[in-house]
Amino acid sequence: MERTVYLNGEYLLESQASVSIFDRGFLFADAVYEVTAVLQGKLIDNAGHFRRLERSCRELNLTLPVTYQELTAIQHELIAKNGLQEGGIYLQLTRGNEGDRDFSYSEGVAPTLMLFTQARNLVNNPKVQQGIKVISYDDMRWRRRDIKTTSLLPACMAKHAAHAANADDVWLIEDGYVTEGGSSNAYIVTQEGNIVTRPLSNDILHGITRASLITLADELGVTVEERYFTIDEAYAAKEAFISSATTFVWPVVAIDDKPIGDGKPGHIALALRDIYIRTAQAMAE
Ligand code: PMP
Repeated sequence: MERTVYLNGEYLLESQASVSIFDRGFLFADAVYEVTAVLQGKLIDNAGHFRRLERSCRELNLTLPVTYQELTAIQHELIAKNGLQEGGIYLQLTRGNEGDRDFSYSEGVAPTLMLFTQARNLVNNPKVQQGIKVISYDDMRWRRRDIKTTSLLPACMAKHAAHAANADDVWLIEDGYVTEGGSSNAYIVTQEGNIVTRPLSNDILHGITRASLITLADELGVTVEERYFTIDEAYAAKEAFISSATTFVWPVVAIDDKPIGDGKPGHIALALRDIYIRTAQAMAE
């Protein structure tokens, strides 16, 4: 069945929605995006995603054409029109179309705003019980990874390499240290039971799920160390896991074919996942 999508103020069937070949999102990846999870037809952590979208826009001098209230109204309309119970809503905002290709842009051009829904099995995903296998991979991205742009070719290359190696995803490595996952934040649990994750900087995306997990870990009484960690420290960890809006928390059971801990999903990862889902659902909009 065709989805109904949103494009620049209109709700259209997906086959009817089109964007100019001169759109700067298409020509230059001059665009930002966000993905908000949907559970039981409600938006998860959406205010955080909006704040990050505002920040991405500010950093790139992009104009966000909707307020938070307007955006949530669009998201709810899409959820209703598509009968979405569980999955996500993808949003993309580009610098629009000036009718030709030119690296530099003019101010005041109407941006392109587009959203669509994706049905997905988030809560009972088989990866939760199985855990995922990742490979380490050179982090070849640019130096503003804190901005959520659609310039995702390095992530596509990395994930393709992971699949070719019979793994599920990558952990990206820079100067010997893990930055993050292919499209997630990365964590290990030390033998002492502390969570370790890379501190926020321009080197990683400031995950919305990450922010919530750090607060929840505190409430569980688990210490979070925001510091660099090497891939060797990860091999020797008790547990490893990733977080994102589309996975919440998925345990990592092997890195570069080396089992992590006993090779099964870790207790802290699963406990954090449960508490995240319960809390997020209670606060869903
Ligand atoms: N890092 C990268 C590179 C990502 O693509 C994502 C997913 N958008 C994340 C981290 C996790 O961010 P969030 O929890 O906000 O989905």
